[in-house]
Amino acid sequence: HDAAPRAHALILPYPAQGHVIPLMELAYCLIDRGFAVTFVNTEHNHRRVVAAAAGAGGVQAPGSRARRLRLVAVADGMGDGDDRDNLVRLNAVMEEAIPPQLEPILDGAGGEGQLGKVTCVVVDVGMSWALDAVKRRGLPGAALWAASAAVLAVLLGAQKLIRDGVIDDDGAPLKLENNSFRLSEFTPPMDATFLAWNFMGNRDAERMVFHYLTSSARAAAAKADILLCNSFVELEPAIFTLKSPATILPIGPLRTGQRFAHQVEVVGHFWQTNDDTCLSFLDEQPYGSVVYVAFGSLTIMSPGQLKELALGLEASGHPFLWVVRPGLAGNLPTSFLDATMGQGKGIVVEWAPQEQVLAHPAVGCFVTHCGWNSTVESIRNGVPMLCWPYFTDQFTNQIYICDIWRIGLKMVQTCGEGIVTKEIMVERLKELLLDEGIKERVQRLKEFAETNMSEEGESTRNLNAVVELMTRPMS
Ligand code: UDP
Repeated sequence: HDAAPRAHALILPYPAQGHVIPLMELAYCLIDRGFAVTFVNTEHNHRRVVAAAAGAGGVQAPGSRARRLRLVAVADGMGDGDDRDNLVRLNAVMEEAIPPQLEPILDGAGGEGQLGKVTCVVVDVGMSWALDAVKRRGLPGAALWAASAAVLAVLLGAQKLIRDGVIDDDGAPLKLENNSFRLSEFTPPMDATFLAWNFMGNRDAERMVFHYLTSSARAAAAKADILLCNSFVELEPAIFTLKSPATILPIGPLRTGQRFAHQVEVVGHFWQTNDDTCLSFLDEQPYGSVVYVAFGSLTIMSPGQLKELALGLEASGHPFLWVVRPGLAGNLPTSFLDATMGQGKGIVVEWAPQEQVLAHPAVGCFVTHCGWNSTVESIRNGVPMLCWPYFTDQFTNQIYICDIWRIGLKMVQTCGEGIVTKEIMVERLKELLLDEGIKERVQRLKEFAETNMSEEGESTRNLNAVVELMTRPMS
């Protein structure tokens, strides 16, 4: 029998794929350090996570780690048929609906697995309102930001950006001539047109998202005992020296790699991966030859662009593994891909085991939307990126990838240029795959990532500090 857990953490992710995955990784990091974890998804996502894991054999195979993990679902306050992509509404409704459901979980006995009472909490920064109930109980509480520290620093520094005339009171960029600004003398330049909330072409929605993000970040900084980020110090060194208005502690990259040995565990995916198809395809391909194409969980592409991408991949002559998520291109006829790809040497899947794919030696580059998790996963596996950002923080990440770390290329120089043609794709892929400098630099960052996760690494030391905080006697 297992010894009693040394602490019991409740973990509350924001209900999106790019948040549930890193928070689940953090859950396993804590479990490996002797914790039990109650992982709270919204009912909507809980169903998806459980179904995806059951499909992969996950929930039937309780290992010692699984015995320490309790999955709990709460209602998000939306109706069954409501549009959960309407984030403005979802955020407002969750803030009302979830806190009363958290109270009994915080005060309960720890469920049937008898994990004991919750003794500490980690919330997503996007759910920082949940820290009120944590503080009332005097429990230690941390907040994890699932994107880059640079973006969090912008949110925390928004008041200063308003004072400096970079953005107006509602987050709209002001300096139309020269949009470049810096958070401090030492941090890299950023572009005010591409701040995380300026993406929807709908000023009302942007304004609301700006206020939601900045108030979440401020609340997290004020109420959490510690502010965490899935990054590491060499990626954003200047950002981590900004101690005001809050210190951000890097604990990444969160993928421990140990999950390769635990594939049957619940890992928080919303879609089931077909590991065998993907990985056996990669096994057949020459070293560094495969183009991996995936745009994360939210991006939508026009059917015309999707078709052009299919032609571009074929024309490149490279083997490819392409994730066409259900919903990526609206109502695309299913016969389309078969017809376009019939002669190709690529495969198309609905959802890939991305970490394993990027770790595979056959993969030569990653065509990515530059989501933060994808960016970090590519770095920790040393894979050069061809950047194709769509919205939110992806443009900021692209600047880091292409201009600061110089480990990738931009698919297009400026956005809004219409359809990216197959000729451009072929040219960029060729350029990227021949660029030895990019390969060397991404390799170097991969080594930094490994060092950070090693026993003496800085991210590991930070994670140990989190554990210490979480296990301190109650105040
Ligand atoms: N992912 C995956 N399989 C896929 C596509 C994506 O496992 O086929 C994972 C990916 O590894 C990452 C997450 O989904 O952990 C996407 O997060 P990211 O921040 O890159 O993008 P978002 O979905 O938030 O736009």
